[in-house]
Amino acid sequence: MTRLTSTRLADGRELIYFDDPGSPERDPGSLVDHRDLPPRADPGELRYDALSGEWVAVAAHRQSRTHLPPADQCPICPTTPANPSEIPAPDYDVVVFENRFPSLGPAVGSTPDAPAWGTSGPAFGRCEVVSFTPKHTGSFAELGETRARTVIEAWAQRTEALSALPGVRQVFPFENRGAEIGVTLHHPHGQIYAYPYVTPRAASLGAEAGKHFDDSRGRESLTSSILKAELQDGRRMVLEAEHFSAYVPFAARWPLEVHLVPHRQVPDLAALTGAERDELAHVYLDLLKRLDALYPTPTPYISAWHQAPLDPALRESGHLHLQLTSPRRAADKLKYLAGSEAAMGAFINDTTPESVAARLRSVAGASTRAGKTTTGIPEGASA
Ligand SMILES: [Zn+2]
Repeated sequence: MTRLTSTRLADGRELIYFDDPGSPERDPGSLVDHRDLPPRADPGELRYDALSGEWVAVAAHRQSRTHLPPADQCPICPTTPANPSEIPAPDYDVVVFENRFPSLGPAVGSTPDAPAWGTSGPAFGRCEVVSFTPKHTGSFAELGETRARTVIEAWAQRTEALSALPGVRQVFPFENRGAEIGVTLHHPHGQIYAYPYVTPRAASLGAEAGKHFDDSRGRESLTSSILKAELQDGRRMVLEAEHFSAYVPFAARWPLEVHLVPHRQVPDLAALTGAERDELAHVYLDLLKRLDALYPTPTPYISAWHQAPLDPALRESGHLHLQLTSPRRAADKLKYLAGSEAAMGAFINDTTPESVAARLRSVAGASTRAGKTTTGIPEGASA
């Protein structure tokens, strides 16, 4: 069992250690933050964009946040006398804590109903940081399966806890990897946002999912139907395991894009069984290793967990899946979102999904067999 230990930082923020199975009890001394921190700022502002019907978080206080600090001042390395970091302990496995410079929160509550031009409110919600490892360098792909499994446990536990906060309507765990896509800390880490509204992308995917679910009279999710079609076609499949499969989508938007889908329709990570979480640790590492094997240098990516929003209508038809995307289109070239994409949301992809899938199948992952992955259960990791 992953061991959870919850504490509070000097300014009242919540911090939770998720230690690998078999870890010893935490020393109570590792739970006390001795820093003298200023009180937390009030939430920023959420403004309603009447032109698009979308909310925009205005978070000017984030301008002062830490930007690519040197390794000896890393805020998510374990604390040392010379570097009193955000993590009070001298060591840890995985840790989750409230972001000191959040776009949303710390207060929680509901966004105004029936907004119009000029409507604004506090940017309610929560932003958390997930540190994957106490080691400052490396990447998620280099974590062993036991540690990856602990991260999955943390994502699932936080999804459940954040979903229960007042006003929260969507929980989004993600990782930005690579300075090329705006990462402000090199230490391997991800984030979790709990939004007080349904994000534009979740609303548009949710509308399509809802239509399909209704048309099938609640028998099949849109994601299940697409997975079935991709499996049948086969040309874009990257891996197939017992509980999860991954493919490059038929109409991929990004030069590198892979969707990882659980075979069972579940709304979020918290709904996965122990066996599914075990396999996910294996196949997710497999995918990330394939991505990193494409080029001589690490590939920047955004790893985005699409979980069903909490609104009952969207939840019923929602089907958890991962969208792993990268703007890298060659060893030394990145795709930038320019006129068509940034202004119109109309994507133009310079790679074919079939050729990307063929490359991802041919490179070494955690375990490779043309298009199939073995369903190894990580050692010592159980729910
Ligand atoms: Zn660090």
